Amino acid sequence: MAWVTEWAPTGDELNACIDCGLCLPACPTFRLTGDESASPRGRIAAMRAIDRGLSPIDARFGEIMDLCLQCRACETACPSLVPFGRLMEGARGEAAAAEPDTVTIGKRLVFGRAIGSRPFMALASLGIGLAQRSGLGRSMTGMIGKTAALRTVPVPVPTTAGREWLPDGNPVGTVAFLSGCVMDAWYSDTHVAVIQVLRTAGYRVVAPSRQTCCGALAAHEGASYDAAAMAAKNVAAFVGYDRIVVDSAGCSAHMKGYGHWTDGGSDLAARVIDATEFVAALIGEGELPVIEGNEPIAVQDPCHLRHAQRMVAEPRMILRAAGYIPIEVDPEGMCCGAAGAYQLSHPEVSRELGLIKAREIAATGLTQVASANPGCEMQLKAYLGDEYEVQHPIELYWAAIQS
Ligand code: SF4
Ligand code: SF4
Repeated sequence: MAWVTEWAPTGDELNACIDCGLCLPACPTFRLTGDESASPRGRIAAMRAIDRGLSPIDARFGEIMDLCLQCRACETACPSLVPFGRLMEGARGEAAAAEPDTVTIGKRLVFGRAIGSRPFMALASLGIGLAQRSGLGRSMTGMIGKTAALRTVPVPVPTTAGREWLPDGNPVGTVAFLSGCVMDAWYSDTHVAVIQVLRTAGYRVVAPSRQTCCGALAAHEGASYDAAAMAAKNVAAFVGYDRIVVDSAGCSAHMKGYGHWTDGGSDLAARVIDATEFVAALIGEGELPVIEGNEPIAVQDPCHLRHAQRMVAEPRMILRAAGYIPIEVDPEGMCCGAAGAYQLSHPEVSRELGLIKAREIAATGLTQVASANPGCEMQLKAYLGDEYEVQHPIELYWAAIQS
């Protein structure tokens, strides 16, 4: 056994796979390539070969793992409950530890360190936003030019961390709020809507100042030690809060898996609730109003809400309460190709999946789209064009109850 980190795939996890292949049709990279090595079963076979000492961790192993979007659609399809997302994070960490080349070191610096720094995120966002507005982003042949989604980056706003918001009247309770990295820098409208809806339901909302990025991007890119350090920092920052509200599906899914990353992680994980889950529950309990209406809206499910957290009904319930009729785009929930840093590492595959999703949305004839994850929102906006509006369901709900 050649694994080196404590987060490596375990024999028990790998043996849970019975090789049935039911996950193959659900896997976007298998559907695009038809190649077994680009399927969940093929990736598990490659991990097993390492675990059993039959092959080394080499560049080919790294490539096979890297092509995976970590969308976890295979988990939804799997009858054996194989924890594929965790296996893939462990395998990525192993590949990075075994082959510490310049790309690996660069990923670690960006996704493991810099992204948790608020000054870095503000400066980087400003730089990309200005390049985009000056037209430079469209002509560059590097990272920004090849990656359509990055052309839609807005300029940053001040962080929510360290602030608190009170409801009108006596609070019914207090919830903690994850400021995040990308959400704070690029998706302040979603943060504002979620905080205001929670205030409307009577909650005091606190964003602890010592929190950091959830670590999902670090974990997905194989920066395991940094992901563990970020999880530990958040465990300390959120002590004393019964509920931690997270408004990016990728972040809430990752934090619900903190038990694998750090001491005290399971305790924090049990207190994390996705904002979509929380607001839908408050609407269901009659703690928030329902607005009558019948405007159709296309619904795109983020993989980390639909597959990682098995939440399908909640965003639709919020949209109905905002006066919309949700129209299904893709009942199977195929990944839109955003997948965190995948837009940068595999721009062609990301583009192909982005275009498939854009065609599915265009086929509905609707120009208003709801999606509960920042990466998906950015990807959809990039491939749909300016006449389309893509928003988080809670942003739409907040606008509806205000009017
Ligand atoms: S996580 Fe997504 S891309 Fe990766 S193997 Fe599973 S279905 Fe395929
Ligand atoms: S569906 Fe599950 S058990 Fe079957 S091949 Fe895929 S991962 Fe293995």
